[in-house]
Amino acid sequence: MQINMWSLIDQITAFLGIPCLLCSQPQHEPINICKACLADLPWCQQSCRQCGLQLNIGPKSTMQLICGQCLQQPPNFDLSLAACHYLPPVDSLLRRFKHQHHLPSGRVLAHSVRRDSSLISNNLTINIYYNFH
Ligand SMILES: [Zn+2]
Ligand SMILES: [Zn+2]
Repeated sequence: MQINMWSLIDQITAFLGIPCLLCSQPQHEPINICKACLADLPWCQQSCRQCGLQLNIGPKSTMQLICGQCLQQPPNFDLSLAACHYLPPVDSLLRRFKHQHHLPSGRVLAHSVRRDSSLISNNLTINIYYNFH
């Protein structure tokens, strides 16, 4: 019988509860932040599906929109997922992950990308970039 280590850790975390990375309140989510803090992340609500830049077009649409720049001069890639803006607390999560190798912060960031994974086809090669300032 093969045991998935991360699944086991998730189950233990959910059972015991650990402090949220952002508010320190006890929480039982497997991604190290509570539901309220997850909802409060500075999510990109509407971005160009090709370059990932923010589109300011009003209410979120389910359409996969492409900006005017990409329509005129398409970049050499087909899809970008812009999960969050580089604003607090995402900036500190990125710094902690990059400079302190803080894996729980990386896990939150990975989860933020995975949140939009319904747009990802199984046949694509995916490069994930986080903009480190
Ligand atoms: Zn929290
Ligand atoms: Zn674009």
